[in-house]
Amino acid sequence: MLILGIECTAHTFGCGIANSKGEILANVNSEYIPTSGGIHPREAARHHASVAASVICDALKAAGKNIEEIDGFAVSLGPGLGPCLRVGATAARALSLYYNKPLIPVNHCVAHIEIARLMCKIDDPLVVYISGGNTIISAFSDGKYRVFGETLDIALGNCLDTFARYVGLPHPGGPHIEKLALKGSNYINLPYVVKGQDMSFSGLLTMAIRKFKDGAMLEDICFSLQETAFSMVCEVTERALVHTGKDAILLTGGVAANRRLRVMMESIAKDHGVVFKAVPVEYARDNGAMIAWTGVLSLLHNVTIPVDESFIRPRWRLDAVDIPWRMNKHEVNKEGC
Ligand code: AMP
Ligand code: MG
Repeated sequence: MLILGIECTAHTFGCGIANSKGEILANVNSEYIPTSGGIHPREAARHHASVAASVICDALKAAGKNIEEIDGFAVSLGPGLGPCLRVGATAARALSLYYNKPLIPVNHCVAHIEIARLMCKIDDPLVVYISGGNTIISAFSDGKYRVFGETLDIALGNCLDTFARYVGLPHPGGPHIEKLALKGSNYINLPYVVKGQDMSFSGLLTMAIRKFKDGAMLEDICFSLQETAFSMVCEVTERALVHTGKDAILLTGGVAANRRLRVMMESIAKDHGVVFKAVPVEYARDNGAMIAWTGVLSLLHNVTIPVDESFIRPRWRLDAVDIPWRMNKHEVNKEGC
């Protein structure tokens, strides 16, 4: 089975091609980089519409496949920015209708998790998913990816990007903050906000900006911003790990590229005697391959959607999605008995 997947939730228009052996045959992505300010949904959508055809053609070329060989078209219907989602959905609907092949709805957060499980060969981890639009600690239980902690306001990646923009660093800000943080060493007190299992990053962002205005060294603020934000995620992760009893931590999403975060997660894993893995950088950021692979899993379990019901879902939650391709450990044991 060969699935073409389209990613189009925010800054990236991506097209991936995957088969049922778990091989990624193509992963072509075009990112919209704002010339000034943050991501403007309409401008991003304009970028996506202008590159859609060439990205899809390039993916088919890279895979060495003809479009007639594709068995289904998967698309991320949410969560994400409405104007962007509409571009991807329109392209996937058109392909599905024209080639008379199933349309497969994919939840973007599920796709980040599935590509990480595939690449890292980890079956049942506690997932730490941190990106520009999401900050979620999740684990599989009873048919769904349950949420064991999330942000109450902005995502961690968004916090980094907004701070970077304010202090004049290029977009996306995460990698630039990481570099500067290596040169900082004075910890500046910043708001550490964990409420139960949830986190809040907006106060941290406001205070980091205030410290910059007050003349603190940028390197020290970057260092302190990372230490504070990552410690919050680690605290929640550690509690979720103990609560769920999972034997691995899997880091995914764009912020997973950060070396300091990886070191901190690794040390938690070591303390608890569990495995730690982070998704390879190519698959950490938004990409078409993750939608294609989740499309394969979905179609193998007959998850498709009629074109006239394939509305975009800008606020589609991870824990609202059924995951029929996974079984609980006790169910596997039951079958084995
Ligand atoms: P995504 O939304 O999954 O595509 O991830 C994009 C987010 O990842 C943006 O907020 C980036 O700033 C962030 N990011 C990428 N590389 C790094 C890094 N090395 N350190 C921290 N954040 C990063
Ligand atoms: Mg993402």
